[in-house]
Amino acid sequence: NNIVAIVGRPNVGKSTLFNRLIQRREAIVDSVSGVTRDRNYGKSEWNGKEFSVIDTGGYVRGSDDVFEGEIRKQVELAIDEADVIIFVVDVEEGITPMDETVAKLLRKVTKPVLLAVNKVDNAMREKDAVEFYNLGLGEYYTFASISGSGTGDLLDALIEAFPEKPVVEVKEDLPRFAVVGRPNAGKSSFINALIGQDRYIVTDIAGTTRDAIDTKFDRFGFEFNLVDTAGIRRKAKVKEDLEFYSVMRSVRAIEHADICILVIDATRGFEGQDQSIFWLAEKNRKGVVILVNKWDLVEKDTMSSRDYEAKIRKELMPFTDVPILFVSALTKQRLLKALETTVQVFENRKQRISTSKFNEYMLKVIESYPPPAMKGKYVKIKYCMQLPTPTPQFVFFANLPQYVKEPYKRYLENKIRENWDFAGVPIDIYIREK
Ligand code: GDP
Repeated sequence: NNIVAIVGRPNVGKSTLFNRLIQRREAIVDSVSGVTRDRNYGKSEWNGKEFSVIDTGGYVRGSDDVFEGEIRKQVELAIDEADVIIFVVDVEEGITPMDETVAKLLRKVTKPVLLAVNKVDNAMREKDAVEFYNLGLGEYYTFASISGSGTGDLLDALIEAFPEKPVVEVKEDLPRFAVVGRPNAGKSSFINALIGQDRYIVTDIAGTTRDAIDTKFDRFGFEFNLVDTAGIRRKAKVKEDLEFYSVMRSVRAIEHADICILVIDATRGFEGQDQSIFWLAEKNRKGVVILVNKWDLVEKDTMSSRDYEAKIRKELMPFTDVPILFVSALTKQRLLKALETTVQVFENRKQRISTSKFNEYMLKVIESYPPPAMKGKYVKIKYCMQLPTPTPQFVFFANLPQYVKEPYKRYLENKIRENWDFAGVPIDIYIREK
């Protein structure tokens, strides 16, 4: 999947454009999962091509009077991580000094940059837009994010600009487990400990590890690739505690992974960044295992693992059965257990339930608690099955599918989880007309 980053100074209409781009797909995805947590990352498709969109502006706090330095970092990151960059400017305001700054950075880039001029909704503004040639980025695209006019052409150009080959080439078809988490959570330490030798240098200073790298493992008679994302921070000067950075740097790794091993720092707890990364994995329908690392540093009389786990589970609602393990990369506590659990989650995600077994169990479940009648009509579900999809999806056929609401779908999901092990794996439930 290609990754598109939207950059530009605050209030030029980045978010409105972002919402437009993701609208179609989003409506489907969110009605299925029932959750929307992040307005800065979404999936989109145009002419049959799928891509991910990141609104870099959405991550910058207090974005009304954002510092120039902040914008600069935002753009540098987009340059590092995205395949195509959309640079949004505003025809009403013309070229501002901050636009110049952004343009200067983008002129040096070899990746495709689309200059998108917003608020162009009449002929006069179309004329005014000519000024933006001065940014030195070549052709521009005019649009109006409010009405949506012009976005079709912009999307055509976007699809056109995608590189032929995906940036991440998957060499082997092995399962991919991505180790994700915020900087200094201990991702490199975890991987190094597993590798059993100090192949990489890990120090206390953020920004000293190398680029993302795959390590092939062969454990439990099972081959897989462990994908390290820790090293993706060449620009050590970037202030990494901004939520945006580690989240954005995880996007590609997560999209290409089967399972995400989310490493959190026990001394800091489950914070906003962890939540965003978890959500990203969930949204991409990946399996998740959470490792509470540095458990050696936590005074066991102040906080038991049970209390700690309960606190995290609250943050994960409604995803309640994600495995949570307490580990230490330093003392190598439970590291193999962590891997074993990850492999299990991988198996869970892959499992296929036969249609006869599924019906046998689920029809009983439905009979014992049928969907509530609506408007005096009875909803009947007579048949169901698992779809042959890469992630677990189940379809239930009903006479009146529109009357089967979220709570009942949640009930079905819970029952599925009770009878089969889908721990750590997102499930999709569809109700269709029979
Ligand atoms: P990354 O940025 O997520 O890859 O984090 P690193 O692996 O570079 O670790 C950051 C810092 O935390 C380093 O100083 C590690 O030595 C330290 N660290 C990592 N894991 C543990 C652990 O389990 N216990 C303790 N006490 N320190 C750890």
